[in-house]
Amino acid sequence: MPARLLVVLDADSTLIRNEVIELIADEAGRGPEVAAATEAAMRGEVDFASSLRSRVQALAGVPLTAFARVLARIEPTPGVRELIDAVHDRGGVVGVVSGGFHEILDTVAPDLGVDVWRANRLEASDGVLTGRVDGDIVDAAGKAAALGEWAAGYEVPTARTLAIGDGANDLQMMAAAALGVAFNAKPAVRAQADLVVGPVDLSQIVPLLP
Ligand SMILES: [Mg+2]
Repeated sequence: MPARLLVVLDADSTLIRNEVIELIADEAGRGPEVAAATEAAMRGEVDFASSLRSRVQALAGVPLTAFARVLARIEPTPGVRELIDAVHDRGGVVGVVSGGFHEILDTVAPDLGVDVWRANRLEASDGVLTGRVDGDIVDAAGKAAALGEWAAGYEVPTARTLAIGDGANDLQMMAAAALGVAFNAKPAVRAQADLVVGPVDLSQIVPLLP
């Protein structure tokens, strides 16, 4: 069904306050090292896909039962429900595209009213993570592609698309959208965004909706 506008958000540190890979790494006792590597990837200092592969290796051995604890630690970003309601009130669709993981987003996204979402999948065997990514990695190009596919699918012209993110891997989708918003973002992302929103409150974006 056609929509009037499309708003695409990044997940980690945008839709939610957390970086999910760090929460899962905590379950493996490797939180700090994965947090440092994630920080470097979000600043754009390293190739996202190879960084993700090496960080996911640190998750090997974590049981799938640990996801319940990870989910309990997820903190939605203030204002997220106001923003999603405002998009829906205007006849729009909300998408989330994440370099994180379906295993967590498949619960979080529908709970928040997100309409469509795409993320990476963690390979598991015998109830534990193998330390490998299952399938293609959602990187910067994958995020931009998701925005384009959703806009086409919902027949939303590019002029009424908006992308919101905080990391270097969000820059391509922010460039592909009519308006790219850096939200609580890294310096490299702020420098290239159309607009910078500093306060950690997604309702600040409501007045920008077309
Ligand atoms: Mg992020």
